[in-house]
Amino acid sequence: MAPDSARPETAHATDSRTNLVGLSREALAATMAKFGEKPFRAKQLWHWIYHRGATDFADMTDLSKALRTKMVDHFVVARPKIAREQTSTDSTRKWLMEFDDGQKAETVFIPDDDRGAVCVSSQVGCTLTCRFCHTGTQRLVRNLTPAEIVGQFMVARDSYGEWPTPTDEGRLLSNIVMMGMGEPLYNFENVATALKIIMDGEGIAVGKRRITLSTSGVVPEIHRCGAELGVNLAISLHAPDDDTRSVIMPINKKYPLKELMQACRDYPGASNARRITFEYVMLKGMNDTPAHARALIKLTKDIPCKFNLIPFNPWPGTPYECSDAATVETFAQVLWDAGFSAPVRTPRGRDILAACGQLKTDSERLSAKEQRLKDAAEAEAAKQMWAEKEAGI
Ligand code: SAH
Ligand code: SF4
Repeated sequence: MAPDSARPETAHATDSRTNLVGLSREALAATMAKFGEKPFRAKQLWHWIYHRGATDFADMTDLSKALRTKMVDHFVVARPKIAREQTSTDSTRKWLMEFDDGQKAETVFIPDDDRGAVCVSSQVGCTLTCRFCHTGTQRLVRNLTPAEIVGQFMVARDSYGEWPTPTDEGRLLSNIVMMGMGEPLYNFENVATALKIIMDGEGIAVGKRRITLSTSGVVPEIHRCGAELGVNLAISLHAPDDDTRSVIMPINKKYPLKELMQACRDYPGASNARRITFEYVMLKGMNDTPAHARALIKLTKDIPCKFNLIPFNPWPGTPYECSDAATVETFAQVLWDAGFSAPVRTPRGRDILAACGQLKTDSERLSAKEQRLKDAAEAEAAKQMWAEKEAGI
């Protein structure tokens, strides 16, 4: 599992040459046609880039020597740079990726025994400001390009020497979760292009059932995600009622629960075999009582779904605390008793700030002290409402 130091220095697209990574199959064919080459060149290149992981045209031995030399003058097969790599005591690995314009985003690999998921970022920062999320304290800097999204997974594979693409069973980097920095459905076009490249069976070949896209609930794009990509859907739910959810996730004011739940019901392919995951971060005193759990059951009763209970991961300056273990247990029990799958996620990579919601790069923080005070007042009101409900049971 040591980083593969035998690999040649990877090209970075810091010059005017075109990066071939991130072009759809059609775009790659068009680029080659413009270059005076036949369509089968695109197929050969695709194989080298995405199946073999080649970064150097010199290695592409079924292209003529003359063509290889010519390609070098015009194209690169580039990855993001690794600005920093850290490995947690629990083997979780995090990369700080640096892109051509100097912007940065993080990617995390969470290994299990013989498989594991790569958590990929879709944006630098985030436009949304979920109160419990470290990324949410960072302004949106920009969307990531398809090359930067695919490139994150390729860097992860480089790091474990997982080229050429192994069979499904032979892979350590077996799954992808779009759960890194940013809201993937606010960068849908680029995420879709990237995931189509990743899913292509003649290249990286990670199937749609091994990919999960997580959204805070951008309702209009949820349907497109199902229709065009067909990947697994995870929803960051975090509260069973609009009052609480709007406090901790301001996007709820735009797309309230009624619309979000309808989008889930309509999600193509949602069935008992392919359930939607509701992520639920356990915030002390905010969303963690048995009454909240019962309200969740009511909210989701006609949706094929499972829950993922996430202990809140703290970060510097956070206003929240994680619910205590007994509270989490009681909460989970209510869901279990109603027949739901609701595992409590074991935090991974906390020591290197690689756990859910801890990712952040060094762009400016929101200087919104007043906003925080307002939030605190709203939070108090929502808590009060739940305390009264709880007392009334
Ligand atoms: N923007 C998307 C993708 C990010 S996924 C989304 O919000 O779904 C990251 C997951 O971690 C989301 O479910 C998010 O709500 C959750 N999360 C954010 N901050 C967290 C924290 N501090 N502790 C635990 N989970 C957190
Ligand atoms: Fe953005 Fe998701 Fe964090 Fe909310 S939870 S701020 S949508 S990354």
